[in-house]
Amino acid sequence: MGSESLRRPDDDRSAAVDFRLARNAVLAEYRANKVMREDICDAHPELLRAAKAGVVTTEECPVCAEGDLVHVTYAFGPRLPARGRCVDSASEMRRLDRAGEELSCYIVEVCPECSWNHLVRRVPLGGRQRQP
Ligand SMILES: [Zn+2]
Repeated sequence: MGSESLRRPDDDRSAAVDFRLARNAVLAEYRANKVMREDICDAHPELLRAAKAGVVTTEECPVCAEGDLVHVTYAFGPRLPARGRCVDSASEMRRLDRAGEELSCYIVEVCPECSWNHLVRRVPLGGRQRQP
């Protein structure tokens, strides 16, 4: 567990990182009754609030199967808040991408019904002028 986040390849910034394996591991533990539902369905109130403006997917919640998962995107970078900035629109995403600084976007899936939440992907953003 957690090896994905510890691995730092040279192209760390330029490659997207998929957290599906870690997510599936958590869900497998839950299905095996090794973790309690309240331990994995613990979305912060702020994350739940952000989910109201997030992107609703057609993917059913893997825990409660009652809600569709919502994707919330947070951007992290040198001039952004330490807790990340919630990116709630495509135009905001384009603006950050054009800003020139290297940013990391973390996409989190949230279930508004049961508060299940997990990282889905990390994608690099911006920093284009450094590449030929
Ligand atoms: Zn749910």
